Amino acid sequence: MSTSPARRIFLCRIVTTGTALAAGMAHAQSKVDEADEQAVALGYRHDTTKVDAKKYPTHKADQKCNNCQFWQGAPSDAWAGCSMFGRKHIAAAGWCVAYKKIG
Ligand code: SF4
Repeated sequence: MSTSPARRIFLCRIVTTGTALAAGMAHAQSKVDEADEQAVALGYRHDTTKVDAKKYPTHKADQKCNNCQFWQGAPSDAWAGCSMFGRKHIAAAGWCVAYKKIG
C-alpha cells in the first residue's frame, strides 16, 4: 500500500503540531515550586521583596532573576530557565542566594 505525497504531508503536519503542543504543555508546567528542596536550599522566592532579610542580610530589593547572570531568558520574559534549577523555570522577579549581578 502506498501513501500519496499529499497524505504524507498531512500526516507529517499532524505529528509536528502534536509534538509542538506537547512541548508547549510541558513548558507551561515546568515552574519551580518555592517548596521544592532545591528552592528551599537556595532561599529562592518568586518575588524578591519576599526574601527573608534576617536570613539573607546581603539581599537587596533590586536584585532580581532577570538581572542575574544565571537568567536564561530575555529581560522582558516573565519566566525563564536558570542553571540552578535545571529544566524548571523561575520568575523574572525572583531571587535566590546564588544571585550574581549581570556585568
Ligand atoms: S541564580 Fe539568579 S536567576 Fe537563578 S534563581 Fe538565583 S537569582 Fe534567580
